Amino acid sequence: MSVTGEPSFRQSVDLMFNRAASMMDLPPGLEEKIRVCNATYTVRFGVRLRGEIRTFTGYRSVHSEHFEPAKGGIRYAPNVNQDEVEALAALMTYKCALVEAPFGGSKGGLCIDPRQYEEHELEQITRRFAYELIKRDMINPAQNVPAPDMGTGEKEMAIIADQYARMNTTDINGKACVTGKPPHAGGIRGRVEATGRGVQYALQEFFRHPEDVAAAGLGGSLDGKRIIVQGLGNVGYHAAKFLSEEDGAKIVGIIERDGALLDPEGLDVEAVKNHIARTGGVDMFPGPRYIKDGVKALEEECDILIPAALEGVINLQNAANIKAPLIIEAANGPVTAGADEILRKKGTVIIPDLYANAGGVTVSYFEWVKNLSHIRFGRMQRRQEESRHQLIVNELERLSADTGIGWQLTPNFKEKYLRGADELELVRSGLDDTMRSAYQSMREVWHSRNDVTDLRTAGFMVSIGRVAASYRAKGL
Ligand code: GLU
Repeated sequence: MSVTGEPSFRQSVDLMFNRAASMMDLPPGLEEKIRVCNATYTVRFGVRLRGEIRTFTGYRSVHSEHFEPAKGGIRYAPNVNQDEVEALAALMTYKCALVEAPFGGSKGGLCIDPRQYEEHELEQITRRFAYELIKRDMINPAQNVPAPDMGTGEKEMAIIADQYARMNTTDINGKACVTGKPPHAGGIRGRVEATGRGVQYALQEFFRHPEDVAAAGLGGSLDGKRIIVQGLGNVGYHAAKFLSEEDGAKIVGIIERDGALLDPEGLDVEAVKNHIARTGGVDMFPGPRYIKDGVKALEEECDILIPAALEGVINLQNAANIKAPLIIEAANGPVTAGADEILRKKGTVIIPDLYANAGGVTVSYFEWVKNLSHIRFGRMQRRQEESRHQLIVNELERLSADTGIGWQLTPNFKEKYLRGADELELVRSGLDDTMRSAYQSMREVWHSRNDVTDLRTAGFMVSIGRVAASYRAKGL
């Protein structure tokens, strides 16, 4: 327990696990085997920068290997620590199981504030960190496959892939050693937006079930819903953008490091994003109300709260004041175990992280498969699909003319129908399907058992059940 009376992040995840496991019928040995983190590797390495040697500390933790490779991002942040990477690795296990991505769970981190370094320095540091992990098979297409997380992105992933290629010159599957690469370096279209897109698909699926919407005390559709989002990084930005531009939701609050913007009429996400890129924060953005104590804005009135930044932001201090009836956890671990209990008792519906932000790893799975198959999705079928559709359109138009009925296919329909799906459309379709089925598997448990009163416990139960089944199949 820390001074705040909260357990650590890892203990918090374990408490959530225990709550779910206690409602299942697992032999205690197997329960323990699933819960514990298999291994955490700590590396300290020096890099010569600005005329001196600087020592960095990094971690790669493997929570489970019931499927290999183990999968999960690498985070760059000053306060990364072992407890945190182990908690995040555990979440990866449950996340992958829930969305049926055939991976174990892993996570890495480097203690660094990336904003303090130049691009070429970050490249040097990333290369060296990758080298340390690759030589121990902690990065490997068959064993452990990192991806972006907080503070990392396409650039770092491209460097990791390149470092792996230099050290494994004959590995034909080398590109699959890391996901989240830029499309021109073996990546897949739609990976950058994937986690935010997944949050959008998760909410769309939630709103397809009026019973679930009513459980949150809401009604209707996403159209007009008031949303507060914390963190306009990759995940928060894409989620807010898609929900406001495509689903008619209103972003009434944006919380950033230096404060929060609030506007009941809805904020222009793109404009706020540009302002942050220019000035480094949301302060001085013209128009909406600005409050310096941004975290306080989590307690503002809204329909949906999207914490998309750090872990532990909804905790024992503020949980009782949260007014949003629906929270969707775009970040990993934004609600502590203690806060979860308070919110559950209040009747707040929480769409949990292990489901809500699984869009990233889902599209990582597609990228990994693409790398191993060495061909872009849709390359073989696209034109064939188009020519078959053309056949139908020609035939319909001929029939219409021959019979004198005079039907006209609208140009918009023709254009949409005739176009074969490209990689981005296929990725989105695969992601949408994944988010729908994963939600359905959670809600089935939520609604079929009286003792399960929340989606998090239901999600954990589905995941733990699947991991347990895979261990059992191996005779454990
Ligand atoms: N870092 C992301 C997460 O927390 C993505 C992991 C991945 O794509 O492997 O889910």
